[in-house]
Formats: sequence, structure tokens, C-alpha cells
Amino acid sequence: MRPSRIVLATGNTGKVREMQSHLEAAGVEVLPQSAFDMPPALEDAPTFVENALKKARHAAAHTGLPAVADDSGLVVPALGGEPGVHSARYAGEAASDEDNVAKLLAALEGVADRRAWFHCAMVYVTHPQDPTPVIAEGRWVGWVATAAQGEGGFGYDPVFCLAPEGPSAAQLPPAEKHRLSHRGQALRALLQRLDWGAAAT
Ligand code: IMP
Repeated sequence: MRPSRIVLATGNTGKVREMQSHLEAAGVEVLPQSAFDMPPALEDAPTFVENALKKARHAAAHTGLPAVADDSGLVVPALGGEPGVHSARYAGEAASDEDNVAKLLAALEGVADRRAWFHCAMVYVTHPQDPTPVIAEGRWVGWVATAAQGEGGFGYDPVFCLAPEGPSAAQLPPAEKHRLSHRGQALRALLQRLDWGAAAT
């Protein structure tokens, strides 16, 4: 059943920008977690899906609303999968996007295999103890560039390229990023499974 309001369980403004309007197109009012006075969730699990579940249950517990959470990050095989679930804090607890990108470029200095992918796990729970969470995932495969390019997006977008010499995710118009990205894929799959009735793309 479609709820009238949900909480979007993320403090990341880039994610809110990419998800809110698409969820609202499905006919629900979306309140970002920042609208509530609540502590951040503990994201200490080894997988994206476990962390997304933790975030969704935490937001539902603190707001009394159904919750959608996204846990995502960049997986680099040449770095053993890092930054992975540590993507937001790769360069330290208070790291900025620029700090994380600089650490990634330094770690890949001289490395020939620059393949990488973004992974997104997205979860919907109706209440904190929901025994049947709805889960969808998405993957966006590309390469890590040797230098940042582009002004759009957030996080690792300026160094995530669609082809070895291709444009970066930060150079894509938002609608094109949504069409291709891990988050766009996961959100479309989640909405399809929720079957709330409205067309959201
Ligand atoms: P989370 O909020 O713990 O899921 O952290 C996600 C982190 O992964 C972000 O802070 C970014 O560093 C990175 N990330 C996830 N999705 C994207 C994306 O679409 N573009 C660039 N970076 C992303």
C-alpha cells in the first residue's frame, strides 16, 4: 500500500537531490532525514545492503514513518574493493568529497587497472521491525580517471568515467546520470517492486 509520507534516510544532499523528485513522482510526500532531530545511523556493516537496512530501520524508528534508505559507494577491484562501504569516509571521519577523491587518485597512481563500479543498495521499510523489507540494487560500471573533470553530481563523480577516455559522471546532465547510474537503476527497481501505481522514472 502506498503511504502518504515517507522519510528519506540520508544526510547526503547529493542523494536527496537525485532521489526526492523521483519518489514524489510516485505520489508520496518525501521528507529528508534532515527535517528531523535525530542522530546518524551507525553504518558499520560489511555490505551495502546491510547498511541500507540499518539506515532505513533507524530512520523509521526515529520518525515513525516508512523509510527509504540508500547505501552506496565506489568499488575498485585494484584496491581490493575499497573504498566500497567506506566511500563516504575513505579519507577520514570528516573527509570532504575532494579529500576522498584525492586519496583515491593517490592510491591509483601508476596503477594500470582502473576499472571500477558504483554499487547502490536501496531499501524500503514500513516500520523499524518490518520483517519484509523491499530491497533493490544497482551497479554502474566505469573507470577511474587520472584527474577530476566536471562540476555536476557529488562524491566521486568527477573521477568516474563512462569509458577510459570518456566523460565523467560530473559532466552528465542530471537526467542522464539518473538513467545510467546505480542509484537510478536501484530506484526504478524499488518502485517497480513497491508497485505504488504512479509512473516514476
Ligand atoms: P553513504 O551515504 O554511506 O551511502 O556513502 C555514499 C558515498 O559513496 C558518498 O558519500 C560518495 O562518496 C559515494 N557515492 C555514492 N553514490 C555516488 C554517486 O552517485 N556519485 C559519486 N559518489 C557516490
